[in-house]
Amino acid sequence: MSLIVQKYGGSSVANAERLMNVAGRIKAAKEAGNDIVVVVSAQGDTTDHLMDMAMEINSNPSKRELDMLLSTGEQISIALLAMAIEALGLPVISLTGQQVGIKTSNLHTNARIEAIDGSRIRKELDGGKIVIVAGFQGMDDNDDITTLGRGGSDTTAVALAAALNADMCEIYTDVDGVYTADPRLVPEARKLADISYDEMLEMASLGAKVLHNRSVELAKNFNVPLVVKCSFNSNDGTYVREESIVEKMVIKGVAHDVDIARIAVIGVADKPGMAHKLFKALADQGINVDIILQSIGRGGTKDISFTVSKSNLKQAVDIIKGLLDELGATDVKYAEDIAKISVVGAGMANNPGIASLMFEALAEEGINIEMISTSEIKISCLIPKEDIERAVKAVHKKFRLDSVA
Ligand code: ASP
Ligand code: MG
Repeated sequence: MSLIVQKYGGSSVANAERLMNVAGRIKAAKEAGNDIVVVVSAQGDTTDHLMDMAMEINSNPSKRELDMLLSTGEQISIALLAMAIEALGLPVISLTGQQVGIKTSNLHTNARIEAIDGSRIRKELDGGKIVIVAGFQGMDDNDDITTLGRGGSDTTAVALAAALNADMCEIYTDVDGVYTADPRLVPEARKLADISYDEMLEMASLGAKVLHNRSVELAKNFNVPLVVKCSFNSNDGTYVREESIVEKMVIKGVAHDVDIARIAVIGVADKPGMAHKLFKALADQGINVDIILQSIGRGGTKDISFTVSKSNLKQAVDIIKGLLDELGATDVKYAEDIAKISVVGAGMANNPGIASLMFEALAEEGINIEMISTSEIKISCLIPKEDIERAVKAVHKKFRLDSVA
């Protein structure tokens, strides 16, 4: 008997009909002889609506109360899904993050899972039940409800799969896998049969919004095999696992992200410790920084530019404003009309010329590159947002991703 953790996203449980469809899939998996733990997100746009409700009352609510509110979306879905499964005549129980002992840090709205006590789930499984768990939520050491950051239900699913030593973690969504590029921008994009954790990590954090990037990190650390599938059909999905069995493609895909902003800190004192001061202040508030560019010092000062996700922009700028004196800096500026395009592939390390091919594609389209960053398995360029669609199409074509078998 296998233990399978399934996760269904908001669109897969958006209404009664879809919930019944999901219940049918769970029933089939259970009747095939598996133990089943299911993690669900809030229905459809529920979390956005809850956020709007909060903003109508108070534009700057405390994050503790925000978590109290946001976590309710998942509580609705687990109860409804359990009822749908009851209607099919199977034993089932729904449980909140607190009830299954998901312990998190106390960084409200962006908490990290620190430990999971799987005993309640094991007890229910041993009793023959299908267990439905609320995604995206946990409890900190004050017994306060926390949430894991938008899209966090994937992370709940992978963390449970790791804690329970599950045989497979199946992530059901409204797309049927991971593609070589966003199929809405590039109709020729192909579905990948396999992708490694590292490649998926880059694709996820670079804006291929199929999986929450922290979930991929966890899957890699605990070696949890994942498969991303569509809940509306029975197509093969994309496996995310350590070794790709197929020969490594040099480039796996083109990711893009328009949800970013660039911050420039102007006139920072050109002496040791300034970058540390700046980025530590941001890190302490849980703000992730991406591409960083520092100008050459001139006249005792330098400029430091970097990108953050749009949702962190206001908070980051406020933090930096409070630090200007300490940094000896004169100003902080920001821009939101930028986007990032990246090529990703583990085979890149052994193949020279990938960067120049990417730059060639952009040059042929007359697209200006504002910042560049590279790692062993990816190359990212910051470009004007208005050019992103053309850029993704051109780069996808340049690397012949539409035709590689
Ligand atoms: N409901 C939460 C959100 O919309 C968590 C999730 O969907 O994974 O962000
Ligand atoms: Mg959601």
